[in-house]
Amino acid sequence: MGIVVQKFGGTSVADSEKIKNVADAVIKEKLNGNKVIVVVSAMGHTTDNLIKLSKEITSTPLDREMDMLLSTGEQVSMSLLAMAINEKGHKAVSLNAMQVGILTEPNHCRARIVDIKQERVKRHLDNGEIVIIAGFQGITTDGEITTLGRGGSDTSAVALAAAFKADRCDIYSDVEGVYTTDPRVVPTAQKLEVISYEEMLELARVGANVLHPRSVETAKLCDVPMGVRSSFKLDDLGTLIIGVDKMELHKPVTGLACDSSQVRIVICDVPDKPGNAGKLFTLLANCGLSVDMIIQSYARSMGNTNDIAFTIDKNDVPKFDKVAPEIKSIMNPSNIHIDEDIAKVSIVGAGMIDRPGIAATMFETLAKLGINIKMISTSEIKISCLVEKCHAKEAVVALCNVFELDGADIADVKGDLPV
Ligand code: ADP
Ligand code: ASP
Ligand code: MG
Repeated sequence: MGIVVQKFGGTSVADSEKIKNVADAVIKEKLNGNKVIVVVSAMGHTTDNLIKLSKEITSTPLDREMDMLLSTGEQVSMSLLAMAINEKGHKAVSLNAMQVGILTEPNHCRARIVDIKQERVKRHLDNGEIVIIAGFQGITTDGEITTLGRGGSDTSAVALAAAFKADRCDIYSDVEGVYTTDPRVVPTAQKLEVISYEEMLELARVGANVLHPRSVETAKLCDVPMGVRSSFKLDDLGTLIIGVDKMELHKPVTGLACDSSQVRIVICDVPDKPGNAGKLFTLLANCGLSVDMIIQSYARSMGNTNDIAFTIDKNDVPKFDKVAPEIKSIMNPSNIHIDEDIAKVSIVGAGMIDRPGIAATMFETLAKLGINIKMISTSEIKISCLVEKCHAKEAVVALCNVFELDGADIADVKGDLPV
């Protein structure tokens, strides 16, 4: 008897009717002869609403208290799903991270899973029960509750699939699979039958929030067969994520993503001497700030200073504000500028390796639209450009067109439009 892990996202468990539908999908998998582990997200917009509530109290809550608050969401959906399955005459039990033993680093709000205990889940599976587990949460060896970062239930599911050597990990969502770009933004985006772990990882990192980046990282590392499917069209196979060595690469660009969740910070006129960049990024790291794109300008001949620009998550601005006085006193910059009007548009494709001209085509396309590029960063299979927010949509549409990522079909996407 094989083990299958199914993960259902917030839209899939948004109300009691949807939870009953999910119960049917889970029971179907069990009747196929599998042992089933289910991972659930919080219902609908629960996590967003809990964050809003905390902001009514304070703009700088302790990360520990945020974890205590946000981890409650998944416990509601897991118990309701267990009840729905029981009601339909099948045995199910819901477990939180502490009951399973999903151990993480002691790093609140962005913890990494380090170990998953097997005994309790195995006992229930061997007893013929379907095991429903709260996604997104973990527990430290000191008994503290942690969370894995927004969208982290995907990572809970893949980590459980790896720990229990599952045959498959199916991520059920409100889309029919992974598309060339967000089908809510470009309705003619094309569904991909397969995508490589490497490309999916880059796409997830640059803002395609259909999968949590660490879920793809874990699947690649542990060789977990993983797919993205629709909770509303259970017979559709969705998108399979496989090794790049198994793929035929036709197009240079496989997908495109846009991320409006960052701000750009420019530290102006930093003295051009060894050690300053080290000091700056150590200060940022010490207060838990993750930095994405970084640019240091050439030193100006007159003043012997340069500007250091970088991007961080916009939710981390209050943390940056706290450390800014220290940056000012240590580095004596002429100004610190925070630019909120930015969006990062990225193209991703393993097929761009050894194909010259892809960056040129991207920059030319933006130039033709009169779009100014504020920052650029690249990896072997990705090119990202920072542009003004108001130009993001037209950049995405034009780049989809130029790299042949759109088609004639209109994607069928369930749920609310992104706000
Ligand atoms: P869930 O609650 O099921 O985890 P998410 O909202 O986290 O769902 O992820 C699904 C959403 O991801 C879709 O509704 C879609 O708008 C968005 N998305 C962004 N990029 C893509 C893409 N390339 N392919 C499919 N969906 C994408
Ligand atoms: N509920 C959490 C969130 O909204 C985790 C998840 O859905 O994966 O980010
Ligand atoms: Mg998600």
